[in-house]
Amino acid sequence: MSITKLHVKKGDTVLVLSGKDKGKQGKVIQALPKKNKVVVEGVNKVKRHTKPNQSAPQGGILVKEAPMFAAKVMLVCPACGKATRIAHKDVNGKSVRACKKCGEVIDQTK
Ligand SMILES: [Zn+2]
Repeated sequence: MSITKLHVKKGDTVLVLSGKDKGKQGKVIQALPKKNKVVVEGVNKVKRHTKPNQSAPQGGILVKEAPMFAAKVMLVCPACGKATRIAHKDVNGKSVRACKKCGEVIDQTK
């Protein structure tokens, strides 16, 4: 089984396209290619009740971002600031992601 490559990855800024956080922008803090999901900072937050432990002797409510489908987010281009689809460019024989709107290469090429 091959791992599906997501169009976004950790560190990308993305725009939420649907759901209760529609229109919000946030940074991808985790990419889960096997599940086709991403965790976006400040988006899709859920409350979890936690049992008492050493750091929280009373137990408590933990607010945490839950994974959401990668298809629900769009990459925000760091160069032009617009939500965009991805184009692929060949740079020195390597396929990198580029902005479809302004053509800027998004991935760093080392
Ligand atoms: Zn752009």
